[in-house]
Amino acid sequence: MIPRPARRRWCTALAAILAGLLGACAQISADRFSRSGVPGIVAGEPGFAGGVVSVSHPLAAEAGASVLRTGGNAIDAAAAILFALNVVEPQSSGIGGGGFMMIHLRDGDRTLVVDSRETAPAAATADMFAGMDFRQASTSGIAVGVPGMLRGIELALDRWGSIPLAQALAPAIALARDGFTINTDLARRTGLPRTALQPETAARFRRKDGSPLPEGHRLVQPELARTLALVAAQGSEVFYRGEIARAIVAAQRRSPIGETGRGRMTLDDLATYRPRIRAAVEGNYRGFTLRSMPPPSSGGLTLLMMLRLLEPYPIGGDGDGWGFGGRHTLHLMTEVMRIGFADRAVWMGDDDFVPVPAAGLLSDCFLSARGALLAVDARMMNAPEAADPWPCQRHGAMRDDGTTLAVHDEEKGIDTTHFTVVDHEGNVVSFTATIESAWGSGITVPGYGFLLNNELTDFNLVPRANPASGNPGSNDVAPGKRPRSSMAPTMVFRNGELVLAYGSPGGATIINSVLNTTLNLIDHRMSLQQAISAPRLSVTSPAGTIQCEEGLPQASLDHLARLGHEFRLDAGGTRCTANIGSVQAIAVEPERARQHGAADARREGTVIGLP
Ligand code: GLU
Repeated sequence: MIPRPARRRWCTALAAILAGLLGACAQISADRFSRSGVPGIVAGEPGFAGGVVSVSHPLAAEAGASVLRTGGNAIDAAAAILFALNVVEPQSSGIGGGGFMMIHLRDGDRTLVVDSRETAPAAATADMFAGMDFRQASTSGIAVGVPGMLRGIELALDRWGSIPLAQALAPAIALARDGFTINTDLARRTGLPRTALQPETAARFRRKDGSPLPEGHRLVQPELARTLALVAAQGSEVFYRGEIARAIVAAQRRSPIGETGRGRMTLDDLATYRPRIRAAVEGNYRGFTLRSMPPPSSGGLTLLMMLRLLEPYPIGGDGDGWGFGGRHTLHLMTEVMRIGFADRAVWMGDDDFVPVPAAGLLSDCFLSARGALLAVDARMMNAPEAADPWPCQRHGAMRDDGTTLAVHDEEKGIDTTHFTVVDHEGNVVSFTATIESAWGSGITVPGYGFLLNNELTDFNLVPRANPASGNPGSNDVAPGKRPRSSMAPTMVFRNGELVLAYGSPGGATIINSVLNTTLNLIDHRMSLQQAISAPRLSVTSPAGTIQCEEGLPQASLDHLARLGHEFRLDAGGTRCTANIGSVQAIAVEPERARQHGAADARREGTVIGLP
């Protein structure tokens, strides 16, 4: 148990950074070197000592800061932020979903993850999505996984928090009951088709005439306020065994596509849901140690693989073609993403069900063979297949025949949220939370005012297990199994001390947003804010179609096109128009015990620091 800080702390809101930063990215150069020894921090920057929160919404940031201000620790603040986000960013996460809460405890220097990932119900089968496309499956009850968030938060508060669940819920209850003014991001997303599919969702997030809510609209959510108050009064039991459980089971029977789309969750599935506590996956990059999310996420393993593949190259160098946005840098980022996503597709999933060859994937043996596919001046013309890491894991050597496995790509949703907190003692939480697609399944639990996830469409929609080819079906549906995630809450350590923590939403692009941010901090030596604001590049399939944000040097993009790379939005061209991720970060200078934060203007990222 972390002792509760004895005295009240004063808080200063740090006006968050933000406006115009995206536009300024084009001029980012590597001239802001960190001289503090901590990536992202220029020596002498004042920073904070009483804690910092970095969140994608100012009202949720304030909910976390208010907990820190009254003596709560990082775990307490994270719980308050998560519940507040359920109210003010309802499209992205909440009690109807799940997430990964990575915690670093200063006392004992331990890093662990509370895994509240949704599970498939006991009646789930590998072929349950047969005949459905992603849109059909993801808007039907069949996609709803058993929500884990509330039990995960409750467990974290019990073990490492210092406030009761009811106190963590209080700011969210007030926001839902009294209402708040919706921002640009939420207003825009109320226009997505998913808010119109079910009457309870349309009643909350559309106007009476069916049009989207305008920015500035005051959103009051009395049903959600009542639900959160019920949980505050009765604990998570009311959700997992009581009246809310019964309402969830009824709601996930909704199906716009008839009988096959009905959810299979039962009261027993809810009653028996258990969060897991996991050790982080760990790897090294240029003298730093990274800890990130293990299976059932693919986030940590894929990130570490890609970093290790890049390590032999002078990514941050000032030679021709290197450095931020350099043509060699962008080309190699693209290529390692193609390789990483090939291996991810076949080998990663919930390793409580199918063994994941984590050590093999991160071994020198495997990565040297994968790295041999890279060339600075040439693109892999064929989409890389997955290679087999098991020989490296078992015998420390690749097989001579170099067996490969075909990869099947599937488009998934893009949403989720990430926030990061450090408290005055140096405990840190890096938390990615999700209901999968924006607005989850689109199903609001009638009478209870919260959205149900569509997390089960993160499984393979078509089963892939194939003994003949050797595909283990790592991410095929099975009863009780967690769908493979891309979420990658990440922490960076120098000489054993935590110096950075961050993560991002964005479906499979999460892994690449975290990769971009890591390179910006460690290789390009940007400030924490620059590293977040800089335009990103992302590839989420071995075929390698590039998504990129405005502001990357055109000459480099033209070079990539000449090498044969393809770009998503603008066939035949190289115009970058994507909007990728939303990174919230903190940094800590261990020697001075100073804390820093930066947040992403792609949403309404907000940093609040306490002196
Ligand atoms: N469900 C996704 C995952 O766990 C995250 C959803 C998203 O960011 O779109 O990887």
